[in-house]
Amino acid sequence: MKITLLQHTSLQTTAHAIRTCWQSFDKSDDGGKKDRELIDRVGNRYKHSSTLEHLFYTFYIDGISRATLQELSRHRIASLSVKSTRYTIKELKDEKPFEKFDDRAGKYCVKTGEPMVDDMSVKALENLRVVLKSGISNDKAKFCMPESYKTELTWSINARSLQNFLNLRTDKAALWEIRELAFLIYENIPGEHKFLFENSLKTEKKI
Ligand SMILES: Cc1cc2nc3c(=O)[nH]c(=O)nc-3n(C[C@H](O)[C@H](O)[C@H](O)COP(=O)(O)OP(=O)(O)OC[C@H]3O[C@@H](n4cnc5c(N)ncnc54)[C@H](O)[C@@H]3O)c2cc1C
Repeated sequence: MKITLLQHTSLQTTAHAIRTCWQSFDKSDDGGKKDRELIDRVGNRYKHSSTLEHLFYTFYIDGISRATLQELSRHRIASLSVKSTRYTIKELKDEKPFEKFDDRAGKYCVKTGEPMVDDMSVKALENLRVVLKSGISNDKAKFCMPESYKTELTWSINARSLQNFLNLRTDKAALWEIRELAFLIYENIPGEHKFLFENSLKTEKKI
């Protein structure tokens, strides 16, 4: 999977939102040390967490399975725009038949490293290709897609909700792929924003 941070709100803007409460704009150092301490103190330590909702991040997430997409979409305080299978599974029509452990399947399906599961995934992919090739519409064919089928999306989330996401999904109890995603999201958060999320990580290692 590949994660790209497309845009984020500046700390200066977030500090400005917080300073609105006390009208202390003159104390700002334009997103510097003083502002960072203010954001940490008010947002994290004083639990005035709604102030963190002014801080937004937009990521492009490429190559997660639809199984993980289903879990990611349970995080309601976020916005998703997802690659539509209705319009795009025709991408399979021009493929030659997929064979056992076919490397070409890696373009379409997330591998688990469990040979039997990955083999069955390729079989499901081949079934889907056959259905599409027969002329059946995308709207019907998509119902036999494997959960491992890769997808991509633009994902926007505010800092408060992102703390919650990292807290739940870096935990050992989380599904391995969404856990991997959570750590990659954390890695892609701008360095000067990391102080807001360090305490949200439940574990250090990916798996
Ligand atoms: C290890 C693990 C196992 C899971 N297993 C299952 C499972 O078997 N089945 C299943 O269905 N789900 C499962 N989930 C999903 C889980 O129940 C949550 O839907 C998901 O983690 C999103 O969390 P959230 O609601 O905190 O996030 P968001 O939806 O982003 O909400 C963020 C916060 O906003 C508040 N909030 C949002 N909506 C409401 C509301 N309607 N009312 C009040 N407060 C609200 C809450 O404080 C919430 O924490 C699992 C999650 C994990 C991490």
